[in-house]
Amino acid sequence: MSRCCGASSTISVMDGDGSQQSSRLHIQDGNPRNKTALAPGHSLMDWIRLGSSNVDLTGVGGVHQVVTLTELAKHNKRNDAWLAVRGKNPESPKIFSDWKQTTNTITFIYKVTDDKFFPNYQLIRENNNEFRIKINQINGVINHEYDLIDGVNWPPKWKKNYDTMEIDFCFTKLIGKIWKFYGSRTIGSQIKSTERNYRQWQIVCNTMLCDNINLLVLKSKDYMEIMRIGRHVEVKMNVMGTEVSRYYTPVPSSIHPDDEAPGYKPDCLCLIVKRYNDGALSPSITALQQGQYVTLSNELGTFAIESFDQCSIIHLLSAGTGLTPMLGVIQWALCRRNITTINLINFNRNEKNIFYQQQLDKISADERLNVVHILSEPDDSWVGRRGKVSDVLLNELIGRAIKHSCIFTCGPIAFMTVAREALVKLGWTTSQLHEFDG
Ligand SMILES: Cc1cc2nc3c(=O)[nH]c(=O)nc-3n(C[C@H](O)[C@H](O)[C@H](O)COP(=O)(O)OP(=O)(O)OC[C@H]3O[C@@H](n4cnc5c(N)ncnc54)[C@H](O)[C@@H]3O)c2cc1C
Repeated sequence: MSRCCGASSTISVMDGDGSQQSSRLHIQDGNPRNKTALAPGHSLMDWIRLGSSNVDLTGVGGVHQVVTLTELAKHNKRNDAWLAVRGKNPESPKIFSDWKQTTNTITFIYKVTDDKFFPNYQLIRENNNEFRIKINQINGVINHEYDLIDGVNWPPKWKKNYDTMEIDFCFTKLIGKIWKFYGSRTIGSQIKSTERNYRQWQIVCNTMLCDNINLLVLKSKDYMEIMRIGRHVEVKMNVMGTEVSRYYTPVPSSIHPDDEAPGYKPDCLCLIVKRYNDGALSPSITALQQGQYVTLSNELGTFAIESFDQCSIIHLLSAGTGLTPMLGVIQWALCRRNITTINLINFNRNEKNIFYQQQLDKISADERLNVVHILSEPDDSWVGRRGKVSDVLLNELIGRAIKHSCIFTCGPIAFMTVAREALVKLGWTTSQLHEFDG
């Protein structure tokens, strides 16, 4: 595996005036030809001597100055060049980035170094050589615009590591050969906007999971978004001349490697939608055919799973499609070494309404995960548990509050109310509970 040894490509400088700015720095990292030869008769020793002399090399008399990105970008001439070395923006966490390659692939690695919260990543393709990675953090947005020396295939495969906080985007090269360097990258930053962005997403596959619940795999042209656990999107459709919109929670493409969603590629998004026959939107979404389009917003919401990363025991109470946010939580929890118990209590009306039962059974091979299905109106053949959420049931299955434990709930309003009251009676505090809407 060949690897670039050029300068670190992380640049973050004071974004001082707080104005909406999209200042840009252009760098050619990883390019050995960027080096300027020393004048004849000079060697590295001259640099070392000069550096340890008392000559003011800072150009600012040694006085610390705050430099905005806009200011820095102005000094880009041959005789007036400023360089940000380990510049710091106190507002947003540092992002470390690196790259590596094999003959056939090139991988860009991103890692948050001083924050426990995973950012949202959006990737936008321009053409075979050019693409942009937009990193959405709590306080701001960083843009990395890549111009590669050769073409790559779209979409890249991506892999998140919740322990190391890394994400890798691995592209396959159009022509398999080792590159001397990857090309150039322009870095920009902007203030985080609360505006929603909408895109057209095409249905790749729409399959029935059970009686009235469908799994939709969607794809948007030249775009992918790595959404965070427990966040949701707004789905908009024109239903009989009226625009209707509702929220849905993207789910992982699989919770067991054998059961990947049909037609899924790394740039796809998966939704699980329950059809309410008298509903304004769900009958239209669940009826979408392969190739048809629907409008989706970018990721919405504020839930941060990392706020619960000190918990070693996680209880999940879901009813119906309330299971959707839990699937991401289960995947996250199984990746975390400090989590000893994941206790999923999944409520449904009857056996026909349970979805992902087989996948859940398969991942229960990991003995940290315990899954209990509870039906309120089962057939006679049902040998599992029966009933509805109640204090007696939660006392038996969850018990009284203990330290380093948390409970997530999601389901219809009535279910959430009963669950909340029962858990409070059992001594669970609000900081230990999180209720997902939906
Ligand atoms: C943040 C968030 C995330 C969500 N994620 C998902 C998801 O991943 N999958 C999903 O299927 N839904 C999800 N929902 C619910 C979704 O937004 C819609 O409310 C649902 O699809 C019904 O929309 P509708 O227009 O078809 O029905 P509406 O026209 O809104 O309602 C019509 C009738 O449907 C019934 N109904 C609607 N919602 C419910 C409900 N939750 N429980 C019981 N009965 C109901 C009621 O009888 C209601 O009178 C989420 C909601 C929120 C707020």
